[in-house]
Amino acid sequence: MYCQKCGHENYDSAIQCSACGEILVPVTKPPADTLPPLPSYPPARMHVVGPPNHLVWAILATLLCCLPSGIVAIVYAAQVDSKFMAGDVAGAQYASDQAKLWSWISALALLVIVVGYVMLAVVATLGSTVR
Ligand SMILES: [Zn+2]
Repeated sequence: MYCQKCGHENYDSAIQCSACGEILVPVTKPPADTLPPLPSYPPARMHVVGPPNHLVWAILATLLCCLPSGIVAIVYAAQVDSKFMAGDVAGAQYASDQAKLWSWISALALLVIVVGYVMLAVVATLGSTVR
């Protein structure tokens, strides 16, 4: 064992350091060794280490809103995993960004349509009331 005072290596059976005379205390193991092993994730989750594919948002955007921009988002979202699995991390990241971008565009378009519809309804209601 090593002397805690001077670092001199002594026999494991030694009770006193042969270099400095320090009483040797049995070295306690670091707590890391006594901790239970980290939980291992199921294999199904192991591949999800690439950039997020935003596929859910892309599909939601397509269903709830504008088909064209939503399809663009889905196309990019579908490329994220395949590109990442092929080792194209940069391409996967780019596709991820594009999927997010087009999902946002779809969401904003939906917002514009809804707001526009509401405004039209309000204007129509006000118009009929005023008259
Ligand atoms: Zn010592």
